[in-house]
Amino acid sequence: MCLFCKIVKGEIPSNKVLENDEFLAFHDINPKAPIHILIIPKKHVENFQEVDGETMAKMTPFIQEVAKELELDENGYRLITNNGRDGGQEVMHLHFHLLGGARLKWPHLADSQPKKFI
Ligand code: 5GP
Ligand code: ZN
Repeated sequence: MCLFCKIVKGEIPSNKVLENDEFLAFHDINPKAPIHILIIPKKHVENFQEVDGETMAKMTPFIQEVAKELELDENGYRLITNNGRDGGQEVMHLHFHLLGGARLKWPHLADSQPKKFI
């Protein structure tokens, strides 16, 4: 069973923010911003590339609710999902990083030159 499935089951403790029957939001163990929340579906889905539209349609208002709960809706936040090897995904259970509580930077993401599409 994957790490986040164990968190869903309560086998690994987490600092929960919000949950319903299908989704869970909890604090990241290694925060990269003043507020850093992970938002996951309770059912195991490997990543964004694998998730179905119906799940995402329900997940969207849940994520918006978490942002409101933490009072991030007014000043803004960043929502990230790392997908697969090149995306830097380490835990293979779909999760969105909700980051906020400060004016976030837009960091340098790769050493290679941008590909030219135009
Ligand atoms: P990824 O790199 O897969 O997009 O993000 C995985 C995230 O999970 C990382 O930000 C990491 O800090 C977080 N994480 C890893 N293990 C645990 C854990 O046991 N508990 C919590 N709350 N977060 C974790
Ligand atoms: Zn899982």
